[in-house]
Parts: sequence; structure tokens; C-alpha cells
Amino acid sequence: MYKCPECGHTSNEAGTCPACNVPLVNESEDNTKEESDAADNS
Ligand SMILES: [Zn+2]
Repeated sequence: MYKCPECGHTSNEAGTCPACNVPLVNESEDNTKEESDAADNS
């Protein structure tokens, strides 16, 4: 899902918002967290 950061227009494909003419940003449902909880066993 791609979403316009300006108006919230969504599209299922990459491109630009037809209203704002700004690049749509990819919104994924899963927030890929960075691997911060690494093994810290000493
Ligand atoms: Zn827009």
C-alpha cells in the first residue's frame, strides 16, 4: 500500500499522488523493527 504523505491518498502501486503530485510512500502493515533485541548474554 502506498500512501500520500500530504493528503492520505492511498494506492496499491507506486507513483505520485494525483492531487498533490508528491511521491507516494510505501506503507507496510508490518513494522520491520530493527534487530535491537540481540543476544546480550555475557
Ligand atoms: Zn496527496
